Amino acid sequence: MIRVTLPCYQCGEEAILEGLCPTCYRKKYPLVEVRTPIKITACKRCGSIKIPGGWKTIPGNIDDSEELMNTQASYAIGLEVGLLNPAVELTIDIENRLDRVLHVDLIAYGMSHKKLEPHEEHYPVELRFHYATCGTCGMMSGGYHEAILQIRADEREVSQEEITEILRIVTDKTVSKYGQDTKAFVTEVTENKFGMDLRIGSEHLAKRIADQLESQYLAERKDNYKLIGQEKGGKEKYRITILIRLPRFQIGDFVKVNNSPCQVISLGKGGLGCFDLQTRESFTINPKSAKWRTLEFLDKETVTREYMVTMRAFDQPIQIMDSKTFEILEIDPSRFDSPAETGGTVHGVFLEGTFYLLPMN
Ligand SMILES: [Zn+2]
Ligand SMILES: [Zn+2]
Repeated sequence: MIRVTLPCYQCGEEAILEGLCPTCYRKKYPLVEVRTPIKITACKRCGSIKIPGGWKTIPGNIDDSEELMNTQASYAIGLEVGLLNPAVELTIDIENRLDRVLHVDLIAYGMSHKKLEPHEEHYPVELRFHYATCGTCGMMSGGYHEAILQIRADEREVSQEEITEILRIVTDKTVSKYGQDTKAFVTEVTENKFGMDLRIGSEHLAKRIADQLESQYLAERKDNYKLIGQEKGGKEKYRITILIRLPRFQIGDFVKVNNSPCQVISLGKGGLGCFDLQTRESFTINPKSAKWRTLEFLDKETVTREYMVTMRAFDQPIQIMDSKTFEILEIDPSRFDSPAETGGTVHGVFLEGTFYLLPMN
């Protein structure tokens, strides 16, 4: 029997697949389907591009207009060009740039059939840019907000360090919602003598920020809905105000737990770390523990004093001298758990008339 390979019915070369040679097969089954020109509607504020049903945020630098246009073009091509084979790689070479028009060479690389070698296809594509304002930027410029987050502190001012840290948390949470929550923005931050107020686009985002602040600062929280009007259908519209009240104490301050004087040594998600100044033991409580209800504020860390050990000898009371007032105190050696020798420095505090040596830090 003699097997004869039939020639390609298009060009007469040796046929490999479906009666076609590789070249004619690739022509019949190209890697991509391209329509040109491609119209791009981009937000003039944030660079997002319009996609069916919404807007796609563009990552990276949006200040460099050329770089932004290239990124927008790549995204638009990725969305518009139909891949006829999922393994096809697309790249673009910018050939010509006008004010609102980009001419590119679109290069597709891949295989038309798994029996064929990969090849490259080139398509000239024109991209036409139109500018608008995306939904998010429109809402932001209109001051839209579903939530007000109020940061206060219990019987003190919110410190500058706390404000800086809270704004960092707000930024992180907001950025992490970009692209998923179109209302993930903060329209206004105001600081006043009580603390700080933030107007937040999305109620969901505001709640996630509040969750984090509540656990990180062991803060009190109150969620309050206020009627602000009615929607078209008559449905009532509410806005949430979330009050976060930071505790009066901060790390280093003095508190009473179960009536025992303690120094706050840590504060965070794990709870409140305390050092009991009488028993010299550390322990942790959190707002769910029974001991939490016995928590009382005693004094700020600033009442701490520095002392110099002026005499430490075997079997004798230890003498320490206040570095500011030069007042001398005598301490029973059994109550002196610092390794500081004569000439060394220790810290102590008077709380409700009693002197306590502080843990080393
Ligand atoms: Zn052929
Ligand atoms: Zn925008």
